[in-house]
Amino acid sequence: MQALEALTRDARALANGDVVPAPPLTGAEAEVARQLQICNACRYCEGFCAVFPAMTRRLEFPKADIHFIANLCHNCGACLHACQYAPPHEFAVNIPQAMAQVRGQTYADYAWPPALGALYQRNGLTLSLALAAGLALFLVLAVALHGQGLAALWSTPQGGFYGIFPHNLLVGLFAPVFLFATLALALGVRRFWRDVTPATSGAPLSAPATAEATDAVLRLKYLDGGHGEGCHNEDDAYTLSRRRFHHLTFYGFMLCFAATSVATLYHYLLGQAAPYDLPSLPKLLGGVGGISLALGTAGLWWLNLRRHPAQGDAAQKPMDRGFIALLFLTATSGLLLWAARGTPALALMLCLHLGAVMALFATLPYGKFAHGIFRTAALLRHAVEKRQPHPIGLGAD
Ligand code: SF4
Ligand code: SF4
Repeated sequence: MQALEALTRDARALANGDVVPAPPLTGAEAEVARQLQICNACRYCEGFCAVFPAMTRRLEFPKADIHFIANLCHNCGACLHACQYAPPHEFAVNIPQAMAQVRGQTYADYAWPPALGALYQRNGLTLSLALAAGLALFLVLAVALHGQGLAALWSTPQGGFYGIFPHNLLVGLFAPVFLFATLALALGVRRFWRDVTPATSGAPLSAPATAEATDAVLRLKYLDGGHGEGCHNEDDAYTLSRRRFHHLTFYGFMLCFAATSVATLYHYLLGQAAPYDLPSLPKLLGGVGGISLALGTAGLWWLNLRRHPAQGDAAQKPMDRGFIALLFLTATSGLLLWAARGTPALALMLCLHLGAVMALFATLPYGKFAHGIFRTAALLRHAVEKRQPHPIGLGAD
């Protein structure tokens, strides 16, 4: 009833040409707005990352501005440990935690299709079920195709990978899942982009802004603490470990993806079927990528276990750890598959690896992977906005 009255009031105001006030912020967004008002008066952390320069361009923090700024935050924790107003101070400023809570909400709110945004709420369970379903799918398929029961999978199959699962069957299974994941991520981030663009000057992307944001993404610039030596933790020591492990993970993932893409070209253009041997390009890319991904995710897991309890959003730990674990399993099962060639373990290793990859693809749009996509969009908008005249009359950033 109250919602109907509010709608009627807004409709009347619009008809009269009045400005309709934005609805008041609630929950995590209201908390970020409260804390940013304090930071805006303090500004001690101005040089740490992109969040604080973006904050100083604003006197107020409506919803879209908060979504934008929350996705600029890299959750390094440095501003918490630098803050004289952090708990137990009565101001209770904890920017990494407040930003993480809003980010988690934005992933779910902008998810496509919207109903699947709920998967973020039980993400640990979602990942576990996806992995179990992926493994079951390939084990059942292997038994169905070869018809000799599970135990018979422990044998040395003829014809390599495609002697176990025909190439066209794998393409038919993976291509729709991957295309759906790409579409879902693209449509989700498009909604985010449309919401935050008016809040970030509305100016279009330019080549210099794109180049700057790309550089910030590829180098993880905002995990360097603002001075290149890294972010600091509660012991005040600078560390680049978070940045290094993210780089190993990100570039490892990209190399594995490149290996699959090159292998597809080998298959269709050169007529050469997998598996490949060293020193072929797919093998080199996959081997280096797999090792890098395994090392990076092992490091991120270690950092996650040591993370200060006040940093980040505790409710998102299952999502963070589940994603790291699934990436680690994908990398190590790929490497084990390599080692299992010509042994009786090949079929089972192949089922394990394909099940992990399938679970990873299927959950990409509804888990931690989304943070890279939304943060890239926020960094692009930041690079555009900082090139516009300063709205508070302080000149360009
Ligand atoms: S996090 Fe604390 S120290 Fe940093 S700008 Fe905000 S109020 Fe100031
Ligand atoms: S947690 Fe790190 S990235 Fe996020 S606002 Fe604080 S200093 Fe910036």
